[in-house]
Amino acid sequence: MTRLRRTTRSGFENRNGQIVAMPTSKSGTDHNQYMYILRCKHCGTVYGANGTDIWERRCPKPRSVCHAGGGRSGIGLMWERGIFSKEEFLKMVEVVNIEVGVLV
Ligand SMILES: [Zn+2]
Repeated sequence: MTRLRRTTRSGFENRNGQIVAMPTSKSGTDHNQYMYILRCKHCGTVYGANGTDIWERRCPKPRSVCHAGGGRSGIGLMWERGIFSKEEFLKMVEVVNIEVGVLV
């Protein structure tokens, strides 16, 4: 559990260059998991991920676009599921002043 706590801290960067931008109060897609907003340091893509996935997460972009890519799709999927609206997400990102690249 120590590891989980560490990897969900804002600013944590995993081995694939995926950085935790901020936690959210929204549930992720896993049972009992909160969603975190991550940013890829290689291409600037911002997306949502489950807390338990952070340590091994890859950028959701295809590998042809980002060399850390090839991961599962991120927040786009959550919009489809109605967990987030796009407007809601953009507002949250504004608050922490993340530079939004391409939203996935
Ligand atoms: Zn990337």
